[in-house]
Amino acid sequence: MSSEPDDPGAPAGDLPRLRAGVGQVERSDVVILGASFAGVEVLLQLQRRVSRPLKITVVDRQRSHGYIPLVHERLCGRLPPEDSELPTARFVDSLPGARFVHDEVVTLDPDGRVVQLASGRRLKARFLVVALGSALAPPAAVTGGEHLLAHKEGAQLDEAAQRLATLLSSEQGEPRVVVAGGGISGVELAGELVHLRRERPTG
Ligand SMILES: Cc1cc2nc3c(=O)[nH]c(=O)nc-3n(C[C@H](O)[C@H](O)[C@H](O)COP(=O)(O)OP(=O)(O)OC[C@H]3O[C@@H](n4cnc5c(N)ncnc54)[C@H](O)[C@@H]3O)c2cc1C
Repeated sequence: MSSEPDDPGAPAGDLPRLRAGVGQVERSDVVILGASFAGVEVLLQLQRRVSRPLKITVVDRQRSHGYIPLVHERLCGRLPPEDSELPTARFVDSLPGARFVHDEVVTLDPDGRVVQLASGRRLKARFLVVALGSALAPPAAVTGGEHLLAHKEGAQLDEAAQRLATLLSSEQGEPRVVVAGGGISGVELAGELVHLRRERPTG
């Protein structure tokens, strides 16, 4: 988090008003980058703990969020997307003083607390919260890692689900699936694959 040391207690109404036009900076008390678990939790804590009104802007490239801890069920088609999507943008916009901006964060100036968005918009904050999470990547030691598909969210999850569905519906012999990694995610995914076959594992 980056914050402005001067005048932290000034009310949101004292902020310079926005002016429309390219290059103009849109100002908020708090800008939260990322609206997944961390970003939304910060937003809720601010709403609960800060008594004075705050102008809060939340930026994310996704307007809604699939529930990541159940991603293995979504990958295998057991949990329909519409049953696991959280309407993040609508939720943020429903909170007093908060607004959702659907955009891509391109660059970030932590000292000036200015954020450049792909649309050309620029946001400036008194307090800047970076909650952009993580991106999945194959371990460097895995040969052929460039062929692996991630299945965390959005289009990457859709593509992985489609590839799995195509494999399982193939009529060219019995599909063989190897789950590499026996941690929680691997075991949960293996369980979902077994469920798809409607068989119980032996042993
Ligand atoms: C397969 C899987 C299973 C998991 N299961 C569990 C579990 O069972 N229990 C548990 O506690 N945790 C689980 N986790 C971990 C949990 O999902 C993470 O700890 C959590 O998602 C982290 O939240 P976050 O808000 O920090 O980041 P993220 O969830 O990664 O969110 C980052 C957000 O930033 C946005 N964003 C990123 N870059 C940009 C950009 N440039 N411009 C605009 N927006 C951007 C993304 O759209 C996203 O909404 C699992 C994770 C995975 C991958």
